Amino acid sequence: MYQERGMGSAPTDSRPASDPKKSRDLRPLRMLFPYALKYKTIIGLALVALVTATLATLAVPVAVRRLIDNGMGADAGLQVNLYFGAMVLVVAVLSIASAGRYYFVTILGERVVSDVRRDVLSHLLSLSISFFDRNMSGEIMSRLSADTTQVKAAVGATASIALRNLFLFLGASIAMIVTSPGLSAIVLGAIPIIVLPIIRFGKNVKTRSRLAQDTLADASAFASEQIGAVRTVQSFTAERAASKRFAAAVERAFSAARQAILARSMLTAFGVFMVFTSVVGVLWIGARAVVTGDMTPGELGQFVLFAVFAAGALGELSQVWGEITLASGASERLAELLQMESDVPAPSNPVSILPEKRGSIVFDDVSFSYPNRPDETVVSSLSFSVEPGETVALVGPSGAGKSTIFQLLERFYDVDDGAVKIGGVDVRDLALKDLRDQFAMVPQQSEIFAASVSENLRFARPSATRDEIERAAHDAHIASFVEPMSEGYDTLIGERGLTLSAGQRQRIAIARAILRDAPILLLDEATSALDAESEALIQKSIARISQDRTTLIIAHRLATVRSADRILVLGSGGIIEEGSHQSLMARDGQYAKFARLQFLDWSNDNEVLSAAGS
Ligand code: ATP
Repeated sequence: MYQERGMGSAPTDSRPASDPKKSRDLRPLRMLFPYALKYKTIIGLALVALVTATLATLAVPVAVRRLIDNGMGADAGLQVNLYFGAMVLVVAVLSIASAGRYYFVTILGERVVSDVRRDVLSHLLSLSISFFDRNMSGEIMSRLSADTTQVKAAVGATASIALRNLFLFLGASIAMIVTSPGLSAIVLGAIPIIVLPIIRFGKNVKTRSRLAQDTLADASAFASEQIGAVRTVQSFTAERAASKRFAAAVERAFSAARQAILARSMLTAFGVFMVFTSVVGVLWIGARAVVTGDMTPGELGQFVLFAVFAAGALGELSQVWGEITLASGASERLAELLQMESDVPAPSNPVSILPEKRGSIVFDDVSFSYPNRPDETVVSSLSFSVEPGETVALVGPSGAGKSTIFQLLERFYDVDDGAVKIGGVDVRDLALKDLRDQFAMVPQQSEIFAASVSENLRFARPSATRDEIERAAHDAHIASFVEPMSEGYDTLIGERGLTLSAGQRQRIAIARAILRDAPILLLDEATSALDAESEALIQKSIARISQDRTTLIIAHRLATVRSADRILVLGSGGIIEEGSHQSLMARDGQYAKFARLQFLDWSNDNEVLSAAGS
């Protein structure tokens, strides 16, 4: 089960696992009805094809009986031709109807699952960050694809098989009763003896298959994590260890799958044996009836064919039953995901930003701890405010809560106490879109997508024109390396921007912030040492963008803190000092100590030394 606060069941493990108890019934499949009902024409065509195919199949034994009983006489040459001609016609109808059934039912399955996938992903993206803190992304992705694939199999090909066999079983059973009520009573009486053990055994198969699938999800999550971190893996020469761990996980998945396959093979052997034994039994009893003259040979032939159809249909039904219950478990997990509510609920009556306070920030006596670590207070009774247009630097030791302040501003989490106000309004009273539209964020690790440069920039504002993109690129000093690229702004930059330098990636993030043109700029300065040129370019870009907007910078560079209007020094849980660089150095308190430590290894030695010495 996925983890999200307020779900009642308050699960404690960190991964979305299946719940064997719940998935036994088929009710969760109901979540698919609204999706399927949108495609009534396809459903109608599928039903027509199903009924036609069933009737055509059931016509074959009737033709066989007539052939045996009437067609083999002395003057039967013409009749034989007629019967065989008719059978070819029936088979032609059967083929077309079967193709139609397969086509329409499978297409419906694909359509429904595409819609479910789309909805699940867009819902996932809307969930609060705490959900992603609690569940591994690789695991969510693997579940998302495994569960939807399972549902697809069930509502597509499996549903097609199940429906065909259900129709055929019912039709053949009725036809059997009409042909020979006596023999039918024997056959129908034998059904529970065959089916009940198969169902019991089938449950065992299902449990094993689920285990195999969960084990595979673990292995895939591990693989995607390692591939994502391949540079780190290789630099620590951890390939062998990672491969060994993956191999072990794959081995576990294999042995779980082998057990499931073994159980299924045994189930198949049992099913085939029981079905064929019953057919032989019916033939035996029927043959005696023919000998005594109670039945014609044609009737026996017809009956046996109906019985074979019914038994075969039942056998296939029991096989797909397992898959349908698995799909039911999968849809239950998808439904759970779809019903999951965000930890940061949208206000029912959203308020608008006060125009005269646009760009202002207030932290009013804020206390906060992360939902997954409720005992560790990260921020306690924190109060400060930033006026519109002001540039404020946040400094402090690692872990003091600087990034947390950014996360609270964007309402990735809700505060435990106090209030965060943007533009004069409590962030909880603003529509999430209105709130987040107030910010342009330049993170320390810029996210670059596997897309062209211009698409990467347009991400900040999809409506931006080519001109605006190029202007932002110039202002952020990326034009100098983008324009000489083979296709300029249309050049693809690799997944996560690995083909770019750290400085280039950060300047792309700055260009995005310029394009976004929001009232508040949140800047998390890179801690990694950039070369002097990148450094200077970034400083210039930042100066340009922070000119006419409120700017909050998590500062790691002396140049930044010096140019800030005000510096907030964070200690454990709150602000311990506040002022300009000069005044804080003069006070010779925590900031001065921090500045000496923090800025001493800064590349521009002269400036550092003068700062540290002042
Ligand atoms: P740095 O300068 O190293 O980035 P910081 O001042 O920005 O540090 P934060 O990232 O705000 O510090 O972290 C403050 C505290 O909150 C740390 O103890 C950290 O372990 C914890 N923390 C941060 N993010 C989470 C999270 N998603 N879940 C739980 N705890 C977290």
